[in-house]
Amino acid sequence: MKIFKFFPIFLFFIVFSCVSSTKNEYLEGQNLPKFAIAIHGGAGTILKTQMSDSLEAAYIEILSKAVTAGHDILSTGGSALDAVGVSINILEDSPLFNAGKGAVFTHDQTNELDASIMDGATLNAGAVAGVMHIKNPIDLARSVMDNSPHVFMYGEGAEAFAKDQGFNMVEQDYFYTQARYDHLMRVKATEEQNSTLFEKEMLPNNPAEMFFDPILKASKYGTVGCVALDQNGNLAAGTSTGGMTNKQFGRIGDAPVIGAGTYANNQSCAVSATGWGEYFIRGVVAHDISAMMQYGGFDLEQSTSTVIDKKIPELGGDGGVIAMDKHGNISMRFNTPGMYRAQIDTNGLLKVGIYKSDTLLTK
Ligand code: ASP
Repeated sequence: MKIFKFFPIFLFFIVFSCVSSTKNEYLEGQNLPKFAIAIHGGAGTILKTQMSDSLEAAYIEILSKAVTAGHDILSTGGSALDAVGVSINILEDSPLFNAGKGAVFTHDQTNELDASIMDGATLNAGAVAGVMHIKNPIDLARSVMDNSPHVFMYGEGAEAFAKDQGFNMVEQDYFYTQARYDHLMRVKATEEQNSTLFEKEMLPNNPAEMFFDPILKASKYGTVGCVALDQNGNLAAGTSTGGMTNKQFGRIGDAPVIGAGTYANNQSCAVSATGWGEYFIRGVVAHDISAMMQYGGFDLEQSTSTVIDKKIPELGGDGGVIAMDKHGNISMRFNTPGMYRAQIDTNGLLKVGIYKSDTLLTK
């Protein structure tokens, strides 16, 4: 039969066209799963004039190490959630950032830590606030998400859950750093001075104005966070912090509040915030950015710039975000003089930045 005579030729064409189309798509990069990661180590009054060369080098080194560790997870097919956790762990273990080891002191000279994580695929999330004996609060937030029916746990209850989950508890001494202690002393002295002026009606009749003092203002920043897109197209975001120096009365900031400091949704983007937490809660920053994309059809950069360059300053706050959309595009927006930040984009390019004027340093 004729058909059998031509069969080998058909077969050749079919195989050839499959191979060549795979090869073309491969060459054009269309078939390769994209993945990317970005981290921040806090936004604030970070000025080159106040930074020694060695400290700057130390920041660049740890930011590079953290973002690379997360990227390694993604490049071997790991999940965005795992990458977020691993990158944040490295920042939490460094005394340079206001999270984990480097957490700031409360008014009562304790350390109370907050963290949250969110899965963009399922919109599941976990968060903890006011924990005092957890070395890596982002891991506990993940455990709340994975191993409990709840989203948000605080204080002693969160720590009891941690013990049940087999977490090693650390003493408060673990979080002691001289730099954070000295900072608390300076902030307390400034606050005392300001409240005397306030009582004498020499300051504006608005308690928020008191925080415009540069030392008090600097007391608010240094949180760490991460956003990632994995090879399965899933986004995740996480944020971890010691909160704000001299905080009292169980104050909780935006970092553990889903929708304020952290949000992730595969339909839109992943966001982690840093800044003056009270304003980021009121501005529902992370969800606002996601909603602008999902319901308003804005792109990533339009969404982050509307919220960070307009909405938050208009409310009176400041800070920044890192955000990533489902294509792996990255936005790093902040309205402060600096933000510690690093990224490895979909082309595998590592960039690190500290100051506003930086074009990110390429490593
Ligand atoms: N947003 C954090 C808070 O208000 C502080 C920070 O970003 O460093 O607790």
